[in-house]
Amino acid sequence: MAVCNSCQATIWWALTPSGKSMPINEKPDPNGTVTTDQNGIVEIITDPAEQRLAKKRGRKFYTAHFTTCPAADEHRRRRG
Ligand SMILES: [Zn+2]
Repeated sequence: MAVCNSCQATIWWALTPSGKSMPINEKPDPNGTVTTDQNGIVEIITDPAEQRLAKKRGRKFYTAHFTTCPAADEHRRRRG
């Protein structure tokens, strides 16, 4: 586990297929689109049918932290 530098939320780091680190919210989110394969590599599934299948197979879904981070939101507002 890790902590977000901006809002101190508990997050964890997953690896994207391109080898980048991606901050993920600690708790699973039934509406999330981020899941990881058996190797811990991020997979984004947005198709509801595919999501159902994945959940049946025991996959958990999460949300990328930057979509919920209040600090990230502030940055966006300030720029826009
Ligand atoms: Zn944050």
